[in-house]
Amino acid sequence: MNTIGHFINGQLSTEASRSQKVFNPATGESNSAVAIASPKTVLDAIAAAENAFPAWRDTPVIKRARVMFKFKELLEKNADKICELIGLEHGKICHDAAGELQRGIENVEYACGAPEFLKGEFSKNVGPNIDSWSEFQPLGVVAGITPFNFPVMVPLWMFPMAIVCGNCFILKPSERDPSSTLYIAQLLKEAGLPDGVFNLVNGDKVAVDTLLNDQRIQAVSFVGSTPIAEYIYKTATAAGKRCQALGGAKNHAIIMSDADVDNVVNSLLGAAFGSSGERCMALSVAVAVGDEIADTVIAKLQNEISKLKFGHYADKNNDFGPVITAEHKAKVIGFIDSAEQQGAKIVVDGRQASVGDYQNGFFVGPTLIDQVTPNMHSYQQEIFGPVLQIMRVETMQQAMDLIDNHEYGNGTCIYTRDGEAARYFSDHIKVGMVGINVPLPVPVAYHSFGGWKRSLFGDLYAYGPDGVRFYTRRKTITQRWPSANIRENKQFAMPTLN
Ligand code: NAD
Repeated sequence: MNTIGHFINGQLSTEASRSQKVFNPATGESNSAVAIASPKTVLDAIAAAENAFPAWRDTPVIKRARVMFKFKELLEKNADKICELIGLEHGKICHDAAGELQRGIENVEYACGAPEFLKGEFSKNVGPNIDSWSEFQPLGVVAGITPFNFPVMVPLWMFPMAIVCGNCFILKPSERDPSSTLYIAQLLKEAGLPDGVFNLVNGDKVAVDTLLNDQRIQAVSFVGSTPIAEYIYKTATAAGKRCQALGGAKNHAIIMSDADVDNVVNSLLGAAFGSSGERCMALSVAVAVGDEIADTVIAKLQNEISKLKFGHYADKNNDFGPVITAEHKAKVIGFIDSAEQQGAKIVVDGRQASVGDYQNGFFVGPTLIDQVTPNMHSYQQEIFGPVLQIMRVETMQQAMDLIDNHEYGNGTCIYTRDGEAARYFSDHIKVGMVGINVPLPVPVAYHSFGGWKRSLFGDLYAYGPDGVRFYTRRKTITQRWPSANIRENKQFAMPTLN
C-alpha cells in the first residue's frame, strides 16, 4: 500500500507512527494510506521553517514574486495531473476539479503583485524635515489547516500570499484527500522556493494541537467545520497568535415572485448539487416568497433533477460525484430521514441511489425536500451533501428574518428583477457574501472571502487585500536627519505642529 507522507525542508518523508486509509470515494476502495504526523515530525517542520525565515524575509520581494510566477506556470502545466489526484481522492468530477484549480491559480496570480501591494505608505514632511512611512513586515512562521472539500484551492488561498509576504509556512491539509496537496507542494520546490520556506505535515488533531501550542508559530489560518474553527480560534488566540478561522455554512437563496424562473432553476441545480453539495458556498436552502413561485420552481426542478448524472470523476458526462466517505454518506442520509420524520415532503429522494459499475461508491443522489421549517434538524445543521431544501414564506422580510436568525452567515443570494428589493437585501442581510441573481458569490482573488456570525472567527477575511493584512504586521517609522540648521529644541509638551 502506498503511503502518502510529509514534505519538510524540501524533502519527502514518510515518518508515521500512525497512518490512516485514504479512499477513492467513487469505488469505495483504498489503495493508499496517509502518514499521521507525530509531534516530533511537526516540530521538525517548525524548526525547518524557522531556519529558513531570516534569508527568505530578506529576499527582495520581486524575487519572491518570481517564484510565484514560476509556480503558476507549473500549476498550469501539470493541471491534468492535479485534477486527476483531486478526483481520485475527493471524487469531484474532472471539470469541477479544473474549476477549483483555476480559482486557486488566481490567488497565485494575485500574490505575484506583491511588489505593488507591499510598497507601504509614505508621507514626506509630517513635521519640519520629518518623514514618516509604514511598512508591512512578515510575521515569521505561520500555519494553515485546511478541509477536504477543496484540497488545492483552499491551501492556495493561504500559502502563496503568506510566502510572498516573506513568511515561512506549515500546511496541515485534510487527511482524507492529501495527494493533490502534497503534489503541489513539490511544484513549489521546482519553482525555486528555498527549502524550509514551505513545509507540509499530514496528520490529525495531534499535529494541529502541536502547531497551536508552539510559541514559534505566529499566526494560524483555518478553514473547516464550525466546531473545529471555534476551537482553533480560541486555542490559537489564547496562545497569543493571530488567527482567522473560517467555518461552516447554510446558504439560503431567496426566490422573489418576479424572478426569472428558468435562470433560478438552472443556477440552483449547479449551486445545490455541484460537487455533491460539498462546498461551503453551496446553496442548500431556497426560500420561495409565495406558494405560486414555489410550486413553479419545484415542478421545473423535479424535471431537471431527473436528468442529472452522477458517478465517477473521470466521466465528463457526469454532473457530480460521490460524497467523501461512507460515514459522511450515512450522515447525509440521516439528515434526509430526519427531515421526513419531522414532516417535510421528500420530492426527489436520493437515498437509494446507486451507480452501475460503482456499487460500493459513496453516492447520494440529488435530493429535493419541500415544506422545510426552521425547527427541523436538517435545516439547523449543515448537511454538506446533494440536498436542496425548499422553504415557503409570504414576504421578503420573513425570508430575510430566516437568514438573519440562522447561526451561519457565509453566503446568500436573491433572485429578483426588482433593483430596489435587491439593494435593500444586500444593504441589510447579515451575511458576508451576497449574490444578486448570482448563486455562488465566491469573491475573486482580488477581493477577500469570509462569512459573518459563526461562519468566521477572526477579524480579517481570507486572501486578497485582507490576506495581505493578515500575513503582515505594520511598522511605522518616523525619521529626521539633524543638521546644523535643524536641531531639536528641548520640548516637554506633546509635539505638535501648532
Ligand atoms: P473539518 O473541520 O472536519 O476538518 C478541517 C481540518 O481540521 C482538517 O485538516 C482536519 O484534519 C482538522 N481537524 C479535524 N478535527 C480536528 C480536531 N478535533 N482538532 C483539530 N483539528 C481537527 O472539516 P472538513 O470536513 O474537512 O471540511 C468541511 C467543512 O469545512 C464544512 O463545514 C465546510 O462548510 C467547511 N468549509 C468552510 C469554508 C469557508 O471558507 N468558510 C471553505 C471550505 C470548507
